[in-house]
Amino acid sequence: MAPYTYDGNCHCGLFRFELRLHQPLETVYACQCDLCSKKGYLWLFPAEDEFEIRRGGGEVARYRAQASHEEHFFCPTCGTGIFVKGHKTPAGGIGMGVNARALLDTNPFEFKVESLGEASHASVTISEPTLEVGSEGWKVYTGGCHCGAVGVTVRTKPLPEIEVKEDNCSICQRNANVCIYPDRSQVTFQGEENLVEYQFGRKFTGHRSCGVCGVQVGMKLHGPPQSVVERLPAAKQEMIRQTLAITPLRVGILNGVEWSDLKIQRSDEGTKGYVVDKDR
Ligand SMILES: [Zn+2]
Ligand SMILES: [Zn+2]
Ligand SMILES: [Zn+2]
Repeated sequence: MAPYTYDGNCHCGLFRFELRLHQPLETVYACQCDLCSKKGYLWLFPAEDEFEIRRGGGEVARYRAQASHEEHFFCPTCGTGIFVKGHKTPAGGIGMGVNARALLDTNPFEFKVESLGEASHASVTISEPTLEVGSEGWKVYTGGCHCGAVGVTVRTKPLPEIEVKEDNCSICQRNANVCIYPDRSQVTFQGEENLVEYQFGRKFTGHRSCGVCGVQVGMKLHGPPQSVVERLPAAKQEMIRQTLAITPLRVGILNGVEWSDLKIQRSDEGTKGYVVDKDR
């Protein structure tokens, strides 16, 4: 048995794997291609004998971009991106990558992240955000998943001027959630019916990803059940109503974003309390 063992899984636990690395995991790779950057993967490239699927291998969903030989595998239930076959490697070869975001007991904020490659997959033309007509300097950002099944348009103050947050709780670390928080009225979806929604725990939040390509799009806030809300004081009910109008969106799905201009607030809250569902 190799000395450096890591367990990994999609958030819902349908898919599980084990890594037995010959060296401790320190460096991961952020691929700059359209698909990988939309997913926010942090790749590591284990040797074949270092990666073993423990369960769910037959249930995992597969996405292959047009004109690409890469096969991306993700959980059809929770959408966690897990591994890729046929991806370019840092050594210049082609190999299998595993998403370090799916590992247990690791903190993605502590990895050494290196950039890999350049935008490569020919997909939709990248459109720059445009100035919204008649607004106080607001912009219109467009974006969407990778396969084109889900599109999004958001009208907002320019991203460098608004709140952008990232944390590393069990779901956000897997989904690469770096999010903005527009009001529902600012956001328009195309192909919203193609989103798969995943809820867990108290089910106050739905995490939505494209059912075809697995790209995480954002969240739908549900809050406590209506029966609970009805018993609260009016002021509290109003507060909840306003909170639920927020539509968190992942910055990674938006086109023409200059990441270096964003003021990302990181919260190192970690995954304490996260237990993989034993029943799955
Ligand atoms: Zn899952
Ligand atoms: Zn890539
Ligand atoms: Zn898609």
